[in-house]
Amino acid sequence: MILVSSCLAGLPVRYNATGCPDERINKLLVDKNAVAVCPELLGVFMTQDGNDVLDRKAEVIENSGRNVTELYLKGARLTLEKALELGATTIVLKESSLSCGSTLIYNGEFKAKKILGVGVTAALLRRHGLQVIFEENLPSFLDTL
Ligand code: SF4
Repeated sequence: MILVSSCLAGLPVRYNATGCPDERINKLLVDKNAVAVCPELLGVFMTQDGNDVLDRKAEVIENSGRNVTELYLKGARLTLEKALELGATTIVLKESSLSCGSTLIYNGEFKAKKILGVGVTAALLRRHGLQVIFEENLPSFLDTL
């Protein structure tokens, strides 16, 4: 079983209430080879990467100033639980998200600027030995099946 970002399944769960559907992901879902999950439903401001949040060296703060670190950590933990429950060993997450990014994340200024880093959920999943890839790596991953 493969776990995938809900927004890649086309669900309107992104900060701007849109999805970013990917036909390859849809096929995995239709064939019942994947399950969709979204660890985050909030737009946030974050200046450090997910590993720093897991290590309590950084916090996640909304534009309004509200601290949503616990929500991010909770979303990451629930996603991990889901992955373990499903026996998923590969997780396909949306690149650049503050939860799901696996090599790049937005720098939190809402100006489409990205920095090298990993989202909170991606970081936690990797710490538990799960393979986290982003959507552009899906074709080469599928070739290995
Ligand atoms: Fe998509 Fe992940 Fe953001 Fe949810 S948290 S909208 S699944 S990128």
